Amino acid sequence: MQIIIQSATELIDTDACSILLIDKNTGELHFTEATGGVSEALRNVSVPLDSSIAGLIVRTDKPILIRDVKNDERWHQDIDKALSFETRSILGVPLKVRDQVIGALEVVNKRSVEGFTQDDIQIATTLAAQAAVALENARLLDELQKAYRNLAEIDQIKSDFVNIAAHELRTPLAVILGYASFLRENVKGQASEQLDIVVNSAMHLRTLIGDMVNLHHIQSNKVMLDRSVFSLRQLILDVLDEFSELMKGQQQILTKKFVPDGDPLNIDADRQKIYLVFANLISNAIKFTPEGGRIHINLQLKGYKYHINIIDTGIGIPETEYDRIFDQFHQVEPSLTRKYQGMGLGLSIAKGMVEVHQGRIWVQSVVGKGSNFNVILPSAPDA
Ligand code: ADP
Repeated sequence: MQIIIQSATELIDTDACSILLIDKNTGELHFTEATGGVSEALRNVSVPLDSSIAGLIVRTDKPILIRDVKNDERWHQDIDKALSFETRSILGVPLKVRDQVIGALEVVNKRSVEGFTQDDIQIATTLAAQAAVALENARLLDELQKAYRNLAEIDQIKSDFVNIAAHELRTPLAVILGYASFLRENVKGQASEQLDIVVNSAMHLRTLIGDMVNLHHIQSNKVMLDRSVFSLRQLILDVLDEFSELMKGQQQILTKKFVPDGDPLNIDADRQKIYLVFANLISNAIKFTPEGGRIHINLQLKGYKYHINIIDTGIGIPETEYDRIFDQFHQVEPSLTRKYQGMGLGLSIAKGMVEVHQGRIWVQSVVGKGSNFNVILPSAPDA
């Protein structure tokens, strides 16, 4: 704005230049920028729309040129008096944003004796157009920043809520799980089966709460790594063991390949967190693959990095969803109509846990044919 004011003063050769904008609340014009900056006195001046030159420019949407203000009845002295300034001549043009007049640009007191010319109107109009673009950009940027701030606040509230809810749910759940397990040990027959259901449901709930807590830690950058050296091969075998009954139930065929074969394929990482990554990926592969489908696990050491693939012959993922499935609570199928269980947290947790280990995770897929989840993990932190 200051550059535009300066250019206008120099190019048109005047004492001063100012930009006035309509205040949306009062409907009056206010000085937004002026030669030498907007003084306190200038800032406090309200210029009425109905009895000022700037007001007239805004109302008629036309430039106004007054060579001698003393002989023009459109001129009111009030503003000069308030500012102890003497206006002799004035040229003003409308400021427009997308066909809407939002204010005026005025240059006052042409220095040369011949006064304002047609060229001056042209220059002022061109500069006013630039000022309008700059103002509009500033306004848009301001709105964007406000929207970002609002979003960040809402995100924080959600994140705090998830954290508090998870912690509040944990204690009563532990009590339920404790007593239900105890009762199950001590009863027989049908009651025992019913208690199995109670215990299993409570354990499921505990996993969900654990997911929410993990997610909160990832989001607030509070993931602490408890590193140790362990066999990545064994970890994957352990995860497969945990889900073997489920796979059998679905008659899915599992194949696996470790390269180099016979090597423990040691990794320096947080075992619990890496377990979570593969538990999520493998349980998804089982969940989204129909009965009789195939699941293949590939683990290969290449250089100092492990390349892992979890490949299934399941329903697949459209390309437009490749990134979004890693967002929290995102599910390809809308949750109300979906036939698969879940909260849409598994992949965002897996991604968070892979990334705190300086690794990468992504998917390739063909809808209706299957998916290939790729994970790369460094074999050691400095590898
Ligand atoms: P959830 O499984 O609880 O819905 P995830 O974060 O683990 O949440 O997965 C997000 C979404 O990504 C799933 O709802 C599903 O739409 C899609 N998805 C994940 N894994 C697979 C897979 N192996 N095959 C097909 N779709 C998948």
